[in-house]
Amino acid sequence: MKPIDLRSDTVTRPTARMRQAMAEAEVGDDVFGEDPTVGRLEARVAELLGFEAALFVPSGTMGNAIAIRVLTERGDEVLVERRSHVVRYELSAMSVLSGVMPRMVDAPDGHLRPEHVRGAVAPRAYYKSDVTLVVLENTHNLAGGTVLGLAETREVIGAAREAGFRVHVDGARIWNAATALGIPASALAAGADTAMTCLSKGLGCPVGSLVASSRERIEKARRVRKLLGGGMRQAGILAAAGLVALDDAIPRLAEDHAHARRLAEALAQARDVRVTPPRTNIVVATLDGRSAPEVAAALAAEGVLTIAMDARTLRLVTHRDVSDEDCRRAAEVIGTVVG
Ligand SMILES: *Cc1c(COP(=O)(O)O)cnc(C)c1O
Repeated sequence: MKPIDLRSDTVTRPTARMRQAMAEAEVGDDVFGEDPTVGRLEARVAELLGFEAALFVPSGTMGNAIAIRVLTERGDEVLVERRSHVVRYELSAMSVLSGVMPRMVDAPDGHLRPEHVRGAVAPRAYYKSDVTLVVLENTHNLAGGTVLGLAETREVIGAAREAGFRVHVDGARIWNAATALGIPASALAAGADTAMTCLSKGLGCPVGSLVASSRERIEKARRVRKLLGGGMRQAGILAAAGLVALDDAIPRLAEDHAHARRLAEALAQARDVRVTPPRTNIVVATLDGRSAPEVAAALAAEGVLTIAMDARTLRLVTHRDVSDEDCRRAAEVIGTVVG
């Protein structure tokens, strides 16, 4: 039987509609600014996120790197939550590519609050580096797909503005956050300088992310993208899948969230397992007195693929290639293997 792959929402295959749109995409050389499909995708995402313009990039990692580069000067500090993706999974890109240093703070749910921001405000001194940028991550990946609500988002962005800090929203899964809250994604990026989002996570595209910002910043971002080797030619083939995803995939994200809740319930019934009910599509379970890699291996032997994040933490992610029936079967396997 085909394994049920809950390792990540990046394991999806393009849908038939995506493949058809890709095959038929109108394309041109995007380094010359001549790919109409890329242009359409950028305009659409800019509008959905509430910015003037957007730039199509190969990956979320590059999108974050570009945003941090255009919003900082070498020697600046960037206020981030300790477990954020830009710190943990991007090879120190902010230091390597932008010459800036993360200032890390802990937040139980992964989300920075106004007091974290105010705590980073200090009198200026010529011998001290300053925080100039705050990076928010919504949903927060490592904390378990946690959502920062609308009021909290407004408050933290407001505090950053008051402190004179710029704001970047790492919205790799901003569509999941917006779905969980029942609000437009643009509301979660309002007041920020830049936002990054991925098409290749919950939306199921083969490749692609976007950075959104003002027209002026996007022109700077375009230069940085080229510098990093991210200038693409007939990228409309990829952008075409993105346009389909925005129509087809966002409306069905709630289904992934319901599946995640079902898996979390199955885990919660097992002994020595602690799990917070998920708000979105990521389930993080803490195993007391049991090895997560061993449990992951036992689940894999029964056709349910998960990831051991560390010795005690198991992560399961739902996505469009996990059906109701898959979810039911996975819950059953969890019951027998973990229970
Ligand atoms: C996946 C992810 C990224 C990076 O995206 P890639 O396309 O894998 O480079 C950035 N931020 C968050 C929160 C992510 O989950």
